[in-house]
Amino acid sequence: AKQAGKNRAQPYAPHMQADALARVHLEADLRIAVEQRAFELHYQPIVDSASGTLVGAEALLRWKHPERGMIPPIEFIPVAEDCGLIVQIGEWVLREAMRQRRDWLARGYPPLRLAVNVSGVQFGETGLPELLRTLLAECDTARDALILEITESVLMGGSDSVEARMRDIKEQGICFALDDFGTGFSSLSYLKRFPVDIVKIDRSFVRDCPDDRNDASLVEAIINMAHSLGLRVTAEGVESAEQREFLRALGCDYLQGYLIGKPLAADAFEAMMAPLRSV
Ligand code: C2E
Ligand code: CA
Ligand code: CA
Ligand code: CA
Repeated sequence: AKQAGKNRAQPYAPHMQADALARVHLEADLRIAVEQRAFELHYQPIVDSASGTLVGAEALLRWKHPERGMIPPIEFIPVAEDCGLIVQIGEWVLREAMRQRRDWLARGYPPLRLAVNVSGVQFGETGLPELLRTLLAECDTARDALILEITESVLMGGSDSVEARMRDIKEQGICFALDDFGTGFSSLSYLKRFPVDIVKIDRSFVRDCPDDRNDASLVEAIINMAHSLGLRVTAEGVESAEQREFLRALGCDYLQGYLIGKPLAADAFEAMMAPLRSV
């Protein structure tokens, strides 16, 4: 139907069809990817702000698509959440991160604290505490070695069941970091109520520091507030030495960002750690 009525506005239909189709393909490919474990974790270093010592890494998911190459999480995680595949993917991520940590430890690399992102959908799964118990036992993981990064939306939906689940998980020696802090419905009452250990300042606030006075004040306020509640603070997206010095001066506990190191595949991360190896 060429020229399907000059008066009929149809700006969305073709896009919607294309989008819907692309999505169906993506979902189908994702299902295959889950079966074939076509995923990889990359690791981004996290350092102690005062000393610059490597203390841990954030595990970041990548999809190795047979035709499209490496696909970033932003492109497929929302789809995986919608269709429920995120639960299986998230389980693989946890398992793989713990396996990798144990492998590095066995080969003389330093004991890292690994931070793993957990989607709200995955967090809502009743089996999560049990899965973590199994994984920690299988991988002989030390207390405080695993950090689950969750976002404020998890706490918001939450109430009592979320709190109870968090406490169950915490009793296993697992820590919680509140990711992207400041971008959601940040409420101080959440920080008091839920057993959170670390606040991660979203990189949108770090980006224009220290030049932008508003952002600089905000970052300072978050750090002070978190410290007064007994929490530690990680700044994300640290890209310049100026930002690093600014955050250091404010007493920010941990730093993460391209200045410190980009996310690396396991073998490249290993090479980076080679000087720290003790065997
Ligand atoms: P996030 O948890 O906030 O992760 C940090 C993101 O910022 C990563 O993007 C990282 O590569 C990027 N980044 C780190 N340092 C810098 C910097 O200095 N400058 C800039 N511009 N960017 C920096 P990535 O790997 O593309 O991940 C995007 C998001 O996807 C993550 O944001 C997280 O929400 C989600 N994600 C990643 N892996 C997983 C996973 O295993 N499970 C779930 N549920 N979500 C994941
Ligand atoms: Ca994160
Ligand atoms: Ca983040
Ligand atoms: Ca983010």
